[in-house]
Amino acid sequence: MAQSYDVVVIGGAVMGASVAFWLTRLSPGLRVLVAERDPSFAQASTALSVASIRQQFTTAVNVEISRFGVDFIRDFAANLGGQGEVASLGLKENGYLFLTQTAEGRALLESVAQMQRDHGAATEVLPPEAIKARFPWLNTEDLSAASFGSRDEGWFDNMGLLAGFRNAARAQGATFVRDRATGLRVEGGRVTGVMLQERGLIECAIAVNAAGTRAAEICRWAGLDLPVEPRKRTVFVIDAPNARHAEAPLLVDRGFYLRPEQDHWITATVPDTDGPCAPDDFDPDLHLFEDVIWEQLWHRAPGFDAVKVVRHWVGHYAYNTLDQNAILGPHPALPSLFLMNGFSGHGLQQAPAVGRGIAEHILTGGWQSLDLSDLSVARVLENRPFREQAVV
Ligand SMILES: Cc1cc2nc3c(=O)[nH]c(=O)nc-3n(C[C@H](O)[C@H](O)[C@H](O)COP(=O)(O)OP(=O)(O)OC[C@H]3O[C@@H](n4cnc5c(N)ncnc54)[C@H](O)[C@@H]3O)c2cc1C
Repeated sequence: MAQSYDVVVIGGAVMGASVAFWLTRLSPGLRVLVAERDPSFAQASTALSVASIRQQFTTAVNVEISRFGVDFIRDFAANLGGQGEVASLGLKENGYLFLTQTAEGRALLESVAQMQRDHGAATEVLPPEAIKARFPWLNTEDLSAASFGSRDEGWFDNMGLLAGFRNAARAQGATFVRDRATGLRVEGGRVTGVMLQERGLIECAIAVNAAGTRAAEICRWAGLDLPVEPRKRTVFVIDAPNARHAEAPLLVDRGFYLRPEQDHWITATVPDTDGPCAPDDFDPDLHLFEDVIWEQLWHRAPGFDAVKVVRHWVGHYAYNTLDQNAILGPHPALPSLFLMNGFSGHGLQQAPAVGRGIAEHILTGGWQSLDLSDLSVARVLENRPFREQAVV
């Protein structure tokens, strides 16, 4: 195997695979190596995701990212040029329904819905009667409004997205290896190589940090701080025989979210004591269903009176503690180190647009198809939060 590449990507889950796909599509012949420590992806957020996509964000750039994402996901096989070996991602466009109980909440939904529509989304704000008419199984008595996206929102096959990007990137010439990056070689203010545990030093002109919850560790090798930490999320798969609504949207209520998954439902909440965890701590917070979710769920939808937890899993958000938004692009202190980090729970849907954006920036020196500068590293260094309020 060569010991020198144009680009070395650290982390081969959805972000690493997407950037490798775009680099080799946009610049055939570019030598790209993707190093992944665990190709089973047992602990990767990509594999542990709830795999949903929405247009309902509070920042315009996130709406734009998802506008591109949903079109890309819908026609995935064609967009990969037939090289992904994945026929379809099975996008199910049931929409997202964000509920609110207050007048201020309604005003906020209305103002962001307008912004979302200005960017091509279909968000409408519904009064309680309209919510009840559309979703009669919901208790709307305490609601002031809800926002609903009737198209371009739903869920899809997460592992298909990863496999498609990886297969297509490979077909275009990218190399994927199982190896753990252990350090960066920095010379004259540039990254000139990545140390791999098995293969030793791999020289490169550009390194990309796509290491998910471990992204801060990669930056620390170069003496750089990154405000990204793993945060645990326990996801429950439940059976509710009196509540079978296959066409239900992904519901976001005050203390939980919920969406159908075949005959069952998926639900989760943010723990009150949310904070960092060790990157290898996957012990579930099982009490959250009984103590936090169930009562609120039953209040919102009386059909959830008899519920059985049939399965659970634990995943980690790569949580950006500054503003819960992605951190993208070259690091100003080390311009040959590119970051695609800190996605805080909405990265899967962002992989198509972010992979393309990072690849274009590497190849041309700037943002091209989509201006991602709101999400650039500079704001983090200047402690200037660019906050996404709709973090689920
Ligand atoms: C419970 C849950 C629900 C979610 N729901 C949604 C959702 O509905 N919609 C949405 O858009 N997003 C969602 N997300 C977020 C989304 O899954 C992530 O933002 C996205 O998958 C991040 O992809 P990634 O490639 O950056 O990170 P990861 O998938 O975590 O991959 C990082 C990879 O880097 C590798 N790595 C780390 N260090 C090294 C090293 N030193 N050397 C080599 N390899 C290394 C890891 O092994 C890993 O495979 C959810 C996440 C969770 C946990």
